[in-house]
Amino acid sequence: MPVDMNVMRGFMEQIQQLGQMDVPSERPDEERVDTAKRVMLEKLDTALAVDLEACVHCGLCAEACHFYLSTEDPRYVPVRKLELMRRLYRRERGPLRWLYRLTTRDITMDDLEEWQELVYDACTVCQRCSLICPMGVHVAAGVAGMRAAMRAADLMPVEMRFVGQEQSEKGSLFGVGSEEFRQAIEELRASGLSIPLDEPRADILVLSAVTDILLFKDTLVSTIRIMNHIGASWTFSSQGYESANFGYMAGDEEWQCAASKRVYDAAVACGAQTVIVAECGHAYPALRWDGAELFGKPLPFEVLAPAEFLAREIVAGRLKVKPIGKQKKVSFHDPCKIGRVGGVVDAPRVVLQALGVDLREAEPHGVENLCCGGGAGNFLINRGMPLRQKAFELKIRQYDATGADEIVTSCDSCQMNFMAGSMMHQWNKPIEGLVALVGQNLA
Ligand code: SF4
Ligand code: SF4
Repeated sequence: MPVDMNVMRGFMEQIQQLGQMDVPSERPDEERVDTAKRVMLEKLDTALAVDLEACVHCGLCAEACHFYLSTEDPRYVPVRKLELMRRLYRRERGPLRWLYRLTTRDITMDDLEEWQELVYDACTVCQRCSLICPMGVHVAAGVAGMRAAMRAADLMPVEMRFVGQEQSEKGSLFGVGSEEFRQAIEELRASGLSIPLDEPRADILVLSAVTDILLFKDTLVSTIRIMNHIGASWTFSSQGYESANFGYMAGDEEWQCAASKRVYDAAVACGAQTVIVAECGHAYPALRWDGAELFGKPLPFEVLAPAEFLAREIVAGRLKVKPIGKQKKVSFHDPCKIGRVGGVVDAPRVVLQALGVDLREAEPHGVENLCCGGGAGNFLINRGMPLRQKAFELKIRQYDATGADEIVTSCDSCQMNFMAGSMMHQWNKPIEGLVALVGQNLA
């Protein structure tokens, strides 16, 4: 059941208020530029240096980026977003640095301020450009390094800073912490649902997300129903329930580590062999791929996206769904971090096939799908709204061509961005989450 637009409007107003809370940095410009350069050099590992050398300036990556495609503004050509990194590399690390120091200028505060928009508002770190690049240049990795440098220079967008700090320092997001999570569970228990919370032993730790508490309650209820339906040994943890990781999106390793550690500790405490993240695009790579790297050792549990888990349980015959029928015409939006980056492309289609809906594939879809424009925390950046909405026009064209009546996805951020896009463009195409759809159609 699609979310009430009034609830969504209230959430967007909360985000708008964050944008009014900025205070200018008190540090001198020189110090901020030096810090940014130091962080950029730290992030300039061999892989990134090879990428910067390998680029042949063919410009093909432009054709992959939703921000360039929708505006044709040359500032948004993917590789240009790494220009400061390249300049620094050439002046400080490259084999001809003595020459580049004579012929190129050093990075200034004006440069950083200009590139701030390019690496936040104009890049969702979706990695589509890397697919098309003949040299395999990983633009998104460079952008992530640039975001870390911006953060060090006090140039992180205020909305991301507030939310990231809240998660790192208080362990809550938008005011939802352990206590509020526990309360939400108690309210659902009062409605008759059986919900394991803080079980001392469980095979599966299931995560939630602030968006499921505040906006997508159907997804939370469906998650519980599905886990109970298959009879799994599972639990939520009031200490490690949050999938979202704003440190990952903001480029702050310390914040990222703190958020992942809460989940890691909760999983280890109950002996879980599997952790299922919520329908949250970035949560999947943040824990599954970056988690082991942050902790310097393999994770003692597997990490699954909900779609992966649902497909696995359907194939194993433990999860049984009622076919909805072909009268429901849907198209599936592959979230970049789960589909392109995580390779979870077939699993949601296995689920939709079991539900018996008329799946109208958009072109492109799967690993080549176009980003919706809201990922990597961009949905929070108020000033980026016009650019995001311009890019969203591509999505409207993409899905209108399918003849589908609604969109299904498996990422809350995508869902929010689609809802915001529908409001802005008066586009009447509802979107719902895959977990909610399954939860409403259990056999
Ligand atoms: S497609 Fe690759 S090689 Fe071509 S300009 Fe973009 S990053 Fe450089
Ligand atoms: S990662 Fe995505 S948003 Fe960023 S430059 Fe590449 S295509 Fe554009």
